[in-house]
Amino acid sequence: MNAPGPATPTPTAIVLGDGFARELPELAVPWRATEPPDPRALVVNEPLAEELGLDPAFLRKGEGVRLLVGTAVPDGATPVAQAYAGHQFGAYSPLLGDGRALLLGELVDAHGSPRDLHLKGSGPTPFARGGDGLAAVGPMLREHVVSEAMHALGVPTTRSLAVVATGRFVRRDEWLPGAVLARIASSHLRVGTFQLARSMGDVALLRRLADHAIRRHHPAAADAAHPHLALYEAVVSAQAALVAQWMLVGFVHGVMNTDNMTISGETIDYGPCAFMEAHDPATVFSSIDHSGRYAYGQQPAIAEWNLARLAEAMLPLLADDQEEALRLAVGALESFAGEYRAAWARGMRAKLGLPGGVDDATAAALATELVAVLEAQRVDHTSFFRGLADVARGEGAPTRDRFADPAAFDEWAKRWLALDPDPAAMDRANPAYIPRNHLVEEALAAATEGDLAPLERLLDAVRSPCEERPGLERYAAPGPDRSFRAYCTYCGT
Ligand code: AMP
Ligand code: MG
Repeated sequence: MNAPGPATPTPTAIVLGDGFARELPELAVPWRATEPPDPRALVVNEPLAEELGLDPAFLRKGEGVRLLVGTAVPDGATPVAQAYAGHQFGAYSPLLGDGRALLLGELVDAHGSPRDLHLKGSGPTPFARGGDGLAAVGPMLREHVVSEAMHALGVPTTRSLAVVATGRFVRRDEWLPGAVLARIASSHLRVGTFQLARSMGDVALLRRLADHAIRRHHPAAADAAHPHLALYEAVVSAQAALVAQWMLVGFVHGVMNTDNMTISGETIDYGPCAFMEAHDPATVFSSIDHSGRYAYGQQPAIAEWNLARLAEAMLPLLADDQEEALRLAVGALESFAGEYRAAWARGMRAKLGLPGGVDDATAAALATELVAVLEAQRVDHTSFFRGLADVARGEGAPTRDRFADPAAFDEWAKRWLALDPDPAAMDRANPAYIPRNHLVEEALAAATEGDLAPLERLLDAVRSPCEERPGLERYAAPGPDRSFRAYCTYCGT
């Protein structure tokens, strides 16, 4: 396959680095975006644009829109499709790669850090494997709103800079309007990137990849006695902390394949993701996850499994003697469970408003007991925690009413109240607004018909998730019953 011809004209003012393409050419194929018939910006993330030194007004039209769909390439940039492998639902695919995406290049943000500018839905690449290389408006706007909500909740995540409608229809179960998502990430290095480098049997390449990852994400590892082991430990820590945050907010990623897990510790690849409503560890939204492999309650174990795959890929870097390498890797991975539990317990301590004087063991035990009650009675996760501060204020009737059998909650609440929880701190730790499934669906359906107002209102709510505002009551309320179990998101994004 030959790359489509060079695109014109080029935006001159924007500088895009080509660090990945230059340093790791074996893992990248230079490629160009497909020209869309009628590109129009649907949403532009103004605060993010400003953080990146980009003028939002420029991005909304002309050359700016063409940059966002990849057909106006700044001088000196080398757009590439990145290659990676990965375990998908447990089965190894030796070559995946960006089938419908391009890394346009690296921007430098206001803090001086490189950030990938990546396009999803920009046309088929040599990795498309028969796919059309395209994306539909609905799923790209879903990524926009859910990743914005995650960012506002303080969860590390890739961001959406913009969604541009292409004016082309894409064929899914039905014909849908097409779009390109411009995504910003601290990088797109994945566990699957290491798996591919390892499979190529070139240890020098694997080392270059690891050193690139250290420079980009975990620079402290460079000063460690064993930098590559320190890199691995840093990824284990970052992922333990990340998945703990998912669990605290009730986020279900939906497709935790090793190609969808970053080395940076950012959430990536929002496909069949959704927020759990009724607390149930078996919650699954993805239409293709029949076995519940990626259910809410499975996520910590799956993260650990994926990190074991990363360890396997990194073994040649850990020691010459592979028995010794394995010993080091197992030792590092063993810290995952403890780090995960500690991060979760810290987060729960905040959600429960527990004062510093309460010891960690008491706090963790109380949190675990509460989750068992929520689970047994399938209580709505987000509105329960938001309402718990009212219980501390002595106005707990509506929260108590969420339990079919409140006795178990009353017993727990008595012990919790005795610890003197701080309701104001709880209001800062427990969101009122998350992108609930029915609200997302409603917003995407309207946007697909050309009405962006519901999406803008939802974005406005979830961007200040803890700041309760009059008039937004329906954004804080649990969805209709159909969103429990019956709600289904699709991978055919
Ligand atoms: P995902 O499940 O979104 O992480 O995608 C898994 C793999 O399938 C990646 O290699 C994607 O680039 C590729 N892929 C997904 N959708 C398409 C599509 N419409 N056309 C080409 N490749 C795709
Ligand atoms: Mg992916």
